[in-house]
Amino acid sequence: METQAIPAEGHDAGQWHTASAPTCTASGVSELRCTKCAAVLQTDGIPALGHSFGNWVVTTAPTCAAAGVETRYCQRAGCSHTETRPVSALGHDWVWVVTIPPTATTDGLETKTCSHCGAADGTRPVPAKGFDIWVADFFDDYIEINVYALNGVLYVEISVCYLYGNICYYYYEGYGFSVEYEYQNRSVLVLELDTEEDAWFELYLMADDINDDEFFKAVEITVIPA
Ligand SMILES: [Zn+2]
Ligand SMILES: [Zn+2]
Ligand SMILES: [Zn+2]
Repeated sequence: METQAIPAEGHDAGQWHTASAPTCTASGVSELRCTKCAAVLQTDGIPALGHSFGNWVVTTAPTCAAAGVETRYCQRAGCSHTETRPVSALGHDWVWVVTIPPTATTDGLETKTCSHCGAADGTRPVPAKGFDIWVADFFDDYIEINVYALNGVLYVEISVCYLYGNICYYYYEGYGFSVEYEYQNRSVLVLELDTEEDAWFELYLMADDINDDEFFKAVEITVIPA
């Protein structure tokens, strides 16, 4: 009996199929199989996909002094890869805050305060607001009156023209002062204000070479807290 070899028909390559899918980090494999015998005729790699990140999300908020953390997550199914990066510390934001308001006669206080965290870093005084002073000078040809307030004390400086000689003494009528009569020296009257309300007085003077017991109404002063 004679035999005769039948020539092999040969493989019939079909189309490329994905044998194993790539992931974010691992490459996959595609292959070409014979449609008749399923033999693998050829394989090829499929590149890894790489991660598909969403947006950065702050996961640890920064504080004034400490850095925070931002995180982003891979969105691809089956992958739980995350990346983190630091968020810079905010730093303090210093502003001066009035913690004790000044009055007309007393200083207040400002505190250097962080607007983020409330930390305090030092204080400084706020000057007293002082007074508006209204002066009606009745003898401005002969008497020069200079009135000013400083830290709750009212200073009345009196200069008298030589025609009147020296001032012997003076008195005043008014309200809002803790000293009713003060004879400190011949040129400066010092009155301490004892009120945050309006104060007022009239000052009378007597000079040593004018008629005995004759006082002159020298000045009228109104003091109003600013
Ligand atoms: Zn085949
Ligand atoms: Zn991933
Ligand atoms: Zn702060």
